[in-house]
Amino acid sequence: MKAVFLSLVLAALPAFGGHQETPLAPIVLYVHFQQEPPPAVFGALQDEVNSIMAPGGLRITWRDLSAPRDGAVSVKLAVISFKGRCDVAGLNPHTFDPGPLGWTHISDGIILPFADIDCQGIRGFIQKRLLAVPVESREKAYGRALGRVLAHELYHIFAKTTRHGSCGVGKSKFTVEELLSPEFQFEERESSALQRANLYATFAWASGVR
Ligand SMILES: [Zn+2]
Repeated sequence: MKAVFLSLVLAALPAFGGHQETPLAPIVLYVHFQQEPPPAVFGALQDEVNSIMAPGGLRITWRDLSAPRDGAVSVKLAVISFKGRCDVAGLNPHTFDPGPLGWTHISDGIILPFADIDCQGIRGFIQKRLLAVPVESREKAYGRALGRVLAHELYHIFAKTTRHGSCGVGKSKFTVEELLSPEFQFEERESSALQRANLYATFAWASGVR
């Protein structure tokens, strides 16, 4: 009986590379901001993460960590803390190297679903170039940069790997240009790793394995 059920689930999963939509395990991100970001920054951050993670088959639901829970169960989740200022007021033309822009928690070699994003550090890192961006586009450009750092940490969490790519969002260090460029995505290898992990999670979820 179980074998029949599993084969039905497998039959329902389309092969990669086809035109059918990849099955999606539900993913919930619980976010907490030390300082509330302007809506345009948060909107751009969400759009960028959704866009970068889409080729890996990850569909993300965003929730405020401090909001009341609705009791819904999600198969995959992560908790994201945004540190420091998350706005673009009071920028100055100096660049400083803040060290890590974001990090994922690891315990005894196990990657935990907790990541921190250094909003203030990213702000300081790109502020000189951000001042050259028209003021009406600045919040969007900054939010997009935050989204790229978050997408990198989500790759570690959901592909369950500490490895880095040589290019794209999976590389270990971003330049100011990469954070502000119009387009920045995962390379094929990192997207495939996310797809595989996501397919496994979807299968486990659909077959009742937790
Ligand atoms: Zn990394």
